[in-house]
Amino acid sequence: MTDLHAAVLGTARAMNAAGINRGTAGNVSARADGGFVVTPTGMSYDACVAEDMVAVGMDGTPSGRRKPSSEWRFHRDIYAARPEVGAVIHTHSPFATSLACMGTGIPAFHYMVARFGGADVRCADYATFGTQALSDAVLAALDGRRGCLMAHHGMVVAGGDLGDALALAIELEGLAEQYWRVLQIGGPRLLPGDEMARVLEKFRDYGRQ
Ligand code: 13P
Ligand code: ZN
Repeated sequence: MTDLHAAVLGTARAMNAAGINRGTAGNVSARADGGFVVTPTGMSYDACVAEDMVAVGMDGTPSGRRKPSSEWRFHRDIYAARPEVGAVIHTHSPFATSLACMGTGIPAFHYMVARFGGADVRCADYATFGTQALSDAVLAALDGRRGCLMAHHGMVVAGGDLGDALALAIELEGLAEQYWRVLQIGGPRLLPGDEMARVLEKFRDYGRQ
């Protein structure tokens, strides 16, 4: 048991408290030596203690008293493919999930879309939860990006650490809500590609004090 176990549980609880996930849906992980620590499968975060978080090696071998999240494959595959990622959050947040159930990503309706690394937020193809096929679809939609929707399922974000990932998940749900609302009043005019390229460039050092 490490401080990381407590931090993963704290972030999972914060995700539900922030209104971006409910019940036992979603999962949270943080990179650890030789693998990652992830929430257990099917357990209420309020009922968990830190010892219920599960360390998983990069070969998928779990250690601990609980079974890991059924989505351990995409957590593992993101850490393997993306050395800059230190934490991953998956949620079934209401607005992102509603858009994902329409099979649509989020286009450049607002400049903050660029915070996720491109001119849109992609929607990963549908695959059954907990499968390698879902992990492959998520990795493709996340290519060069820090977040994506998941068709008929939810969203995933990949951050530098747990705090960064939680902020990204809250931000992506906020953008999904704004886009959903704009669609109700006639739909947005999208920002052009050259403006999104300018914003992406500005985000390279935005907020560094
Ligand atoms: P776990 O409880 O296994 O993490 O599953 C929740 C989920 O969101 C599956 O996609
Ligand atoms: Zn899920």
